[in-house]
Amino acid sequence: MTHGTLLATARDLGESLSGFLRSAGARRTVVAGDARRGVAMVSELLLLTSGLAPRLVAETVTLAKISSGRVKVSGLEVTTKLDDGGRLRVRVVRDPDWVKATIQETGDADHVAWLREVARERGGTFGRVARAARDERAFYRAVELAYVPPELREGAAPTVPLDLLGEHGALGVFHVHTDWSDGTASLLQMVEAARDAQLTYVGISDHSQAATYAHGLDAARLDAQAKAVDEARARVPGVEIFHGVEVDILADGSLDLDDETLAKLDFVIASVHTRHNMPFAAMTARIVRAVKHPLVTILGHPTGRILGGGKGYTFDLGEVARAATENGTFLEINANAHRLDLSDAHVREAAALGARFAIDPDAHATSGFRDTALGIALARRAALTSKHVLNTLDRDAMKDFLSVRREKGRARLGLAGA
Ligand SMILES: [Zn+2]
Ligand SMILES: [Zn+2]
Repeated sequence: MTHGTLLATARDLGESLSGFLRSAGARRTVVAGDARRGVAMVSELLLLTSGLAPRLVAETVTLAKISSGRVKVSGLEVTTKLDDGGRLRVRVVRDPDWVKATIQETGDADHVAWLREVARERGGTFGRVARAARDERAFYRAVELAYVPPELREGAAPTVPLDLLGEHGALGVFHVHTDWSDGTASLLQMVEAARDAQLTYVGISDHSQAATYAHGLDAARLDAQAKAVDEARARVPGVEIFHGVEVDILADGSLDLDDETLAKLDFVIASVHTRHNMPFAAMTARIVRAVKHPLVTILGHPTGRILGGGKGYTFDLGEVARAATENGTFLEINANAHRLDLSDAHVREAAALGARFAIDPDAHATSGFRDTALGIALARRAALTSKHVLNTLDRDAMKDFLSVRREKGRARLGLAGA
């Protein structure tokens, strides 16, 4: 799980190599395998291509400089080791076998075995039905199955919800840092990048004061930032800006900013950034207390895992999911390329308990918005529907939702102005 290639890196390499292959004359290329299914750590980056001789593919892989490893040709396959320890395999496919190969090389072994069995039951053979199919959808139709999107092609007979979250399902995102804390771009640049990424709203959430390493904001700087947000609203009318914060969850589960300060903001993300090694029960109590806070909208990167790095903190996810559900707090699917936290297995577990989710890039640079797609892939792997995901709301619905929730929070806390 912790070795291989980051999904974001694998998809980038795959896309770049596809470009090189097409320039070299390939008729078709597709990234298959783990990366197509949206697996967080890709054990083998797999590309299928047609119309090129294996030796030319090998030359192209070398030319593309995507790894310093030796490029080997074996039959119709070209392989090399990637610099991060992962593997690359490019398989040359004959055009008549294209659909068959994409199906075989996208689903996991159990899913493909199940498809073979279903094809047999319908009186055909997998190879014959696949060769007759124009595309993958036609194959699933031919064996009388509902289409299974790549993210769900694992195991036999996966359940595919009719209203599965769409690939472009997030209309806006939260959890965006600027150079007010540890982001590298200005607030204005991040807002413009959100607009350029076709998002209709963006939630700015810099760190709070306890995060001194990130130059976190205290109440006074948050007030000053609110003015900067107002200025950005005037200058970039195409995208709605919500002003929030990523507030630290302190060791006892209380928050790093007072309620009056939090109540001024459009939304609040609460995250654990310190004392990762607290015992299970204490960490559970800490996070449960935070997700029960009337003004906390989203629990940020719930487990704190870093892909290829730290495992994150341990706590009772079920208990946290139940408390969050009861309080109307969303669990984050942190889509940052290095996090993907919660995992798809955790999302399934929490969703079964009624939890709902927010898919956020945790962007620290203008390029960070791209990560949102990784979180969407993860959510689709967990079979989430639009109803499970906060940021499928459109801009007006989101504005209403956040203001109602804040007023309720204020009222529950007995704050003036409710
Ligand atoms: Zn954080
Ligand atoms: Zn963050």
